[in-house]
Amino acid sequence: MVERLREQGIKDEVVLAVMGSIPRHLFVEEALASRAYEDVALPINYGQTISSPWTVGRMTELLRNGGINPLRKVLEIGTGCGYQTAVLAKIVNEVYSVERIGPLLTRTRIRLRELGIRNVHLKHADGIQGLPEIGSFDGIMMTAVIPEIPETLLAQLAVNGRMVFPKGSKKQYLCVIDHTLEGFVETVLDEVMFVPMLPGIINR
Ligand code: SAH
Repeated sequence: MVERLREQGIKDEVVLAVMGSIPRHLFVEEALASRAYEDVALPINYGQTISSPWTVGRMTELLRNGGINPLRKVLEIGTGCGYQTAVLAKIVNEVYSVERIGPLLTRTRIRLRELGIRNVHLKHADGIQGLPEIGSFDGIMMTAVIPEIPETLLAQLAVNGRMVFPKGSKKQYLCVIDHTLEGFVETVLDEVMFVPMLPGIINR
């Protein structure tokens, strides 16, 4: 998988090493485990999907930005099966991850504990407004698509912080927003395909 990611243009060796060290097959249902290392998005129940390895690699590489700014505290919106969360946990001091589907999060909580990952704080909530009570984040990653970033979320991005997310509706693009001293700077990148960010929570 790592070799293919390199061929597909993922250059950050830190990201590649981390992705090579996490057993991705443990994040999908057993029936799909044999396909876990292919470059495809796979179903993870409740109509959601685990992002493809390239997508995870690309988003993580963009968030890390070559390591020029320390990633102490990072917010992820859309925990899903927790693979991206586990990747973040290896390159960030503290990960806060929010998921709206309760049973998905319960399963992920167990999975991350079994993998010995302890620097992740999981929250069952609608994450679209972020976690204002936790304060500002060095990085914010969204793994579901939205048409526009809410102001309240932008306000949680620390100066020198970076946000990576898919933007759009029918056509979607990976976007980066950097919080610079001059303000917020947005860059539009690769075309992608994500499930939508939805309001409210699901308990069971
Ligand atoms: N990174 C995950 C992606 C899962 S798909 C993985 O690879 O498994 C996107 C996830 O975002 C879904 O689990 C979906 O339930 C969640 N989601 C969508 N809208 C949300 C919201 N408003 N708040 C929190 N999570 C949300």
